Amino acid sequence: MPDPPERQRLPEKPRHGLVVVVTGEGKGKTTSCLGMSVRAVGYGMKVVMIQFIKGSLHYGELDGAKRLAPEFELLPMGKGFVGIRGDSLPFEAHREAAREALAEARERMLSGKYDIVILDEVNVALHLGLLDLADVLSLIRERPQNVHLILSGRHAHEEVIRLAHMVSEVRSVKHPFDAGIEAEKGIDY
Ligand code: ATP
Ligand code: MG
Repeated sequence: MPDPPERQRLPEKPRHGLVVVVTGEGKGKTTSCLGMSVRAVGYGMKVVMIQFIKGSLHYGELDGAKRLAPEFELLPMGKGFVGIRGDSLPFEAHREAAREALAEARERMLSGKYDIVILDEVNVALHLGLLDLADVLSLIRERPQNVHLILSGRHAHEEVIRLAHMVSEVRSVKHPFDAGIEAEKGIDY
């Protein structure tokens, strides 16, 4: 029997663009964003994930993302840990990188090319003072109605939470780190 004809599928579009916040102290925020990306790419949606702070270390998703190309793009735009773990960069360099990442995110969000724009660790960048609250809030307010905007990272600002449609807080019940077990490939990075 011949195979059934391939169903013609047009890429889906968001019906109601959402502002989503994934925050909290537990493990699973960035990977939640990656999970939503896998799901959305399955519908032919276009997703861009811009990472704040991250940019100096290797994470599995940097290569995993290539398997989801061209629908999924991952742009690490940070300069690594801020003020800890051997960071020798001036604070201003981190600030500059974060501002550039926010400008990039804004441009992509307004380009009409993306259905989902993810700002990974943006909450941390704001919390550390790498970004100004007013700039983050105006980006959220400028979101086109047919784009989902996802903001991840611990310490989400209450004003960001107020503007969001969906807010999830990941709570840590246990973490192997507390038992002296170091980060594991594929699970943690
Ligand atoms: P993931 O990228 O695994 O989804 P995350 O985005 O929720 O994690 P981040 O705050 O970005 O968490 O931290 C990233 C790394 O820190 C991950 O390796 C994660 O396992 C680890 N981590 C998260 N929560 C804790 C915790 N409570 N104690 C120690 N390490 C943690
Ligand atoms: Mg994270």
